[in-house]
Amino acid sequence: MRKPIVAGNWKMNKTVADAVTLVSDLKLDLADLLGVDIVVCPPFTALKSVVDTVSGSRIYVGAQNMHWEKSGAFTGEISAEMLREIYVHYVILGHSERRQYFGETDEIVNKKTKAAHAANLKPIVCVGETLAEREGGNTFAVIEKQVRGSLNGLTKMELTNTIVAYEPVWAIGTGKTATTAQAQEVHAHIRKLLAAISDDTTAQSVRIQYGGSVKASNAKELFSQPDIDGGLIGGASLEPRSFIEIVKAALK
Ligand code: PEP
Repeated sequence: MRKPIVAGNWKMNKTVADAVTLVSDLKLDLADLLGVDIVVCPPFTALKSVVDTVSGSRIYVGAQNMHWEKSGAFTGEISAEMLREIYVHYVILGHSERRQYFGETDEIVNKKTKAAHAANLKPIVCVGETLAEREGGNTFAVIEKQVRGSLNGLTKMELTNTIVAYEPVWAIGTGKTATTAQAQEVHAHIRKLLAAISDDTTAQSVRIQYGGSVKASNAKELFSQPDIDGGLIGGASLEPRSFIEIVKAALK
């Protein structure tokens, strides 16, 4: 009953020209694909050109970050309203690289998540444990703190319109993927937490993506797990063939 969603996080890659070329290739293959929501998240500089290029297709555009205030003296920042103005529909929030390199806390991610909903943007909220946290047996505790902190105070409707991305930090860009069993175990735990902070029906409606070295070769098995509703894809989203295959692997 949950529609899978596959999103490409291009990070700090692609010129405007390269972004338009990539998304034009995706459009050729994916423009009319039903059954999976497709999102590409280019850097800010390429957002408008990518929005214009995907026009008329079923591909949506997301940003990789935003500020929680609507406007004001926040040099270097971009607001949810500014993203909506150019027809961006999604925004990645709390990616582990933002938590690690830019000091984003659960409290900051929570403010951004609420601001995204207020502007009608769908947030993709990232959570995930480090290798040390996993090896110390703290995975569930870390995930619980991040889920409760990042999603604190959302209405049930807002939760339904939130995508949670489980991305074990040790699997991002490392070529190490969580096993399907490891991923499913944490996804099921996240869904239990969502039920605890809202109710069962709401928890069942929330899409939970897996992210961390997803490739065309491992996507199908990961996406076939009962609580894995697609993926957040880094490296493999920078090349059209691999992203197209991963998107198709999410079709039920
Ligand atoms: C990511 O950064 O969100 C990610 C999942 O990266 P990769 O697919 O390259 O591991």
